[in-house]
Amino acid sequence: MSDSSPISASRKPIEFRPLPERFDSDIEVPDIDLHMHSTASDGGMAPTELVALAARRGLSRMSLTDHDSMEGIFEAQQAARAEGISLLPGCELSVRWRNQTIHIVALMPEGAGDALSAGLKQQHEARERRSHEIAARMEKLGLENAFERAREQATLSGSGDRPLSRPDFARALVEAGIARNLQDAFKRHLGAGQKGDVKAHWPEMEEAVGWVRADGGIAVMAHPMRYKLTRTKRGELLRDFIAAGGEGAELVSGFQNIDRARDLARQLDELGLYASVGSDFHFPGGPLAPGSMSPPPRTKVPPVWCHPRIAPFFAADAASM
Ligand code: AMP
Ligand code: MN
Ligand code: MN
Ligand code: MN
Repeated sequence: MSDSSPISASRKPIEFRPLPERFDSDIEVPDIDLHMHSTASDGGMAPTELVALAARRGLSRMSLTDHDSMEGIFEAQQAARAEGISLLPGCELSVRWRNQTIHIVALMPEGAGDALSAGLKQQHEARERRSHEIAARMEKLGLENAFERAREQATLSGSGDRPLSRPDFARALVEAGIARNLQDAFKRHLGAGQKGDVKAHWPEMEEAVGWVRADGGIAVMAHPMRYKLTRTKRGELLRDFIAAGGEGAELVSGFQNIDRARDLARQLDELGLYASVGSDFHFPGGPLAPGSMSPPPRTKVPPVWCHPRIAPFFAADAASM
């Protein structure tokens, strides 16, 4: 698959092959990606461009899961209709668990209702307040006019008025010569446990999962292997998540080690969670693109598209195209 082929009028329509009901082959990657970002948060492509790229790469189904925002969903839905691809509304919520930042992917077949809409408004305000706090801390590190510089970086990456994200501050640090590259900026200044990791503003995991459930959504633990947790701690996180109403976890997030994925599959099986898959794509030009991810390990954990509130969504879309 190429991500640079031009859109051609003679391109063949997207094929709605049935999605696998089991991950029973160790090699096949399904043509679905349920975790991607656009300029509605810290991604580099507008929703329309992202959907077009996903279609060009042969995906038949996708979700747009911007951080704490569904502002890109309407545009993405229109683009999806034009491209003949099925788009499940979603977002990725920043939450707190035992004073760590955790991400929850919300898959919302009916879109956001009153509960999640109010929650997203709260997240927007939390992010605004947080960005000023991060800016103050970055100024202490020597980044003058930190807020304005981060805003400038957000604009350069294609986003006008969304609240700022840590990557905007990371780029500002690189630009000012305070960090060598993004990785370094996160490692020394913005990542977990560093000065710029301001998490006091996020809601408790339980509260945010409640918004998702109240509006008929499916809460999915994002990239469970990316938190620095032992297997036992990860089990505790997932158990608390389930107690709060969480129903799935990302078995595949971008490219990952197959042995760790197999172990995660066993853990999801033990806990009775659904398995989701996503690239967590943000920017073109990097190692990831829409749909790029490791193949899921062979497991009897059911894919999240078999969930009784998601299966009818994709079935209805497939029937109408
Ligand atoms: P925020 O949503 O503002 O808390 O920022 C978190 C985002 O920063 C993540 O979703 C990633 O896109 C990005 N990020 C986190 N860690 C790193 C890292 N080490 N290098 C580059 N980007 C990162
Ligand atoms: Mn991000
Ligand atoms: Mn995330
Ligand atoms: Mn993400």
